[in-house]
Amino acid sequence: MASEANPGVGKSIGILTSGGDAPGMNPAVRAVVRTALSLGATVYAMYEGYQGMIDGGPGIRELTWEDVSGILGQGGTVIGTFRSKDFREYSGRKRAAANLITRGIDRLIVIGGDGSLSGLDQFRSEWTQILAELVTEQTITAEQAAAHPALMFAGLVGSIDNDLVGTDMTIGADTALHRITSAIDDLSSTAASHQRSFVVEVMGRHCGYLALMSAIAGACDYVLIPELPPEPDWEEQMCAELRRNRKAGRRDSMVVVAEGARDRQGQPITSEYVRHVIEEHLGEGARTTILGHVQRGGAPSAYDRWASTWLGYEAVCEVLAAEPGSVGPVIGFRGNRICRVPLVEAVARTRQVPELIAAGDYDQAMALRGGSFTEAARIFTEMVHPSRIDADAGSKRVAIIHGGGLAPGMNAAAADAVRLGISRGHTMLGVQGGFPGLRDGAISELEWADVEGWVVGGADLGTRRTVPSVADLYQISRSLEDNSIDALLVIGGWNAYQAAYLMHSERERFPACGLPIVCVPASIDNNLPGSELSIGADTALNVITEAIDRIKTSGQASRRAFVVETMGRQCGYLALMSALSGGAERVYLHEEGISLDSLIADVAWLRNSFAAGRKLFLAVRNEDANPLYTTDFLARLLEQESHGLYDVRQNILGHVQQGGCPSPFDRLLAVRLVSRALDLLADVFAGETGESYYLGLVESKVTHRPMSHMMEEMDTEYRRPKEQWWLALRPVMKAVADAAV
Ligand code: ADP
Repeated sequence: MASEANPGVGKSIGILTSGGDAPGMNPAVRAVVRTALSLGATVYAMYEGYQGMIDGGPGIRELTWEDVSGILGQGGTVIGTFRSKDFREYSGRKRAAANLITRGIDRLIVIGGDGSLSGLDQFRSEWTQILAELVTEQTITAEQAAAHPALMFAGLVGSIDNDLVGTDMTIGADTALHRITSAIDDLSSTAASHQRSFVVEVMGRHCGYLALMSAIAGACDYVLIPELPPEPDWEEQMCAELRRNRKAGRRDSMVVVAEGARDRQGQPITSEYVRHVIEEHLGEGARTTILGHVQRGGAPSAYDRWASTWLGYEAVCEVLAAEPGSVGPVIGFRGNRICRVPLVEAVARTRQVPELIAAGDYDQAMALRGGSFTEAARIFTEMVHPSRIDADAGSKRVAIIHGGGLAPGMNAAAADAVRLGISRGHTMLGVQGGFPGLRDGAISELEWADVEGWVVGGADLGTRRTVPSVADLYQISRSLEDNSIDALLVIGGWNAYQAAYLMHSERERFPACGLPIVCVPASIDNNLPGSELSIGADTALNVITEAIDRIKTSGQASRRAFVVETMGRQCGYLALMSALSGGAERVYLHEEGISLDSLIADVAWLRNSFAAGRKLFLAVRNEDANPLYTTDFLARLLEQESHGLYDVRQNILGHVQQGGCPSPFDRLLAVRLVSRALDLLADVFAGETGESYYLGLVESKVTHRPMSHMMEEMDTEYRRPKEQWWLALRPVMKAVADAAV
């Protein structure tokens, strides 16, 4: 019988992937299977999407824990996907229902696009009628029909296009963005060598998400998307833009075209046409690259692993808690929170977008895409203008400074700040070498062309962990005055925040330190107040996940246990999320602590597990999880107690975690945060408000708080925020990891 601990006992769940494949489907399938099994349910895969459900036989197979081993890092879907014509017919759906009922399955989890999900709703609405007919035809018994009076389901959206209205991200979109951004980076280097133009065509028949976001992340010159058809004379405008950017110092020109881009008459704008226009107007050779199916392929990004794992877990919880009569939702994300959206409404609103575009109602189409999309379009337009907008009375001298440990994306954020600041009429200054540099007056003006190429990792301005002392504030004040600095944009980590707070709180004694300061979170540790994610954390997570993939592969030939240590100080974000993305069995966090009892249980479990045939074990330990039970200690303990069943290796990943080229997410986060920081400064300069702020991403919106509140949110003993949203993923880890504790 089902109980609170085992709500799945006696229940059978079907899982299928349908429509276009998307990287991240496998992590979702793995999470569904493992969560269902750990809650006592039985899981069946419907191979080749709805077709397997219709065909039955080997098309429907029970899955075990091991069946989904090793698939977390694989692109595509191991249970296959298909565009089933038969499922569009009532007769096909009837055969599918018969196959489900005879196996006792009345709970379905479908991972697919809007087509697959609407098919699911159609199936649900016909269930009672179909069952009645199957009883009349004696395909199933009346008892079988009575035992399964309704089809209960949850839908997960698998689509690289990120086109479903109602959820922030669909499974596969982040990975596709990785592929595209990396291709644009690669093309930029060859284009710059020859001072050449490239037109890059990306997927997105009705949705410009991939095109717009990759154009921002890749610092491209122009973008064409379905939701925002260009003005009638766009060819002239585009070429003027390209010319202006070249004059301002760019060595290449990059135009991104969504495959569904159209003009205002509804005529397609092809990448080939754009290339032709560039060649004609600019009188130079241009190249077209159609990225095609590489955008769909390859290993899922860290986000598509942990987010899809979370979605799979929630989908199982949803279908196990469902009662006959409840209508299943689409489960997605809003902010970093799981959201449940009514399926019919989500599909209807998604399908409305192409209709609105066709009717010329672009504002409404953009509105349905959501606030972040509209904001991104506005930012892109502003980013590509190198020339200073007529400086008005609001023109100020704004200095950019880094502090704290290096975070990938610091450079990108500084470059964005310079370009957006200049376009808003400010003089932008760079402080070299963090707060010591500010004290010593290492400050110089930055022009639009100076930051060309800063999308790579690192921090050209330099960063230091030094927090100034009160005694330093005198010299800092002099330096601020000598350079006539009107505002400080601090892009950095914990120590930078402390430095900014110190200046702000000592402003009565040192009036020059009372200038407006805005802190933008940049730290791989993701331990800053006021932001659920800081610039650099996603990149570090991807670096760790790739390292774990390699470490696991290296251990395949022998029976081996790995203990991998991640950075983060006492904040376990990187450890938990990489444990989820890398498929670890165990994670050690400072937030949870490590006890001797739990280690004894781990050792016993590990020995039994290897004795029963396990080949690989992976534990991730946050670097400061416990001062005594160090990574070295854990590795030795596991080795000592292995009784020859396995050997142990430890991997302290170290500074590679700070060294990645910023991920698309970090680049986009950087530009959003910096843009808002400049908005805030504009308000302060206009006299509307006189505070200093720290800002960040909260539930997917950029929000800011007055500096005076900073300490209230910080756990200064452990150097992390008091509230950490990602701790909600601990039960997910336990469900999918099969470890002792
Ligand atoms: P996606 O799910 O990626 O949007 P499709 O629109 O091609 O892809 O749908 C995938 C499959 O879902 C279809 O081949 C079909 O089996 C099923 N499907 C789609 N729409 C319906 C529908 N209206 N009724 C029944 N099944 C449908």
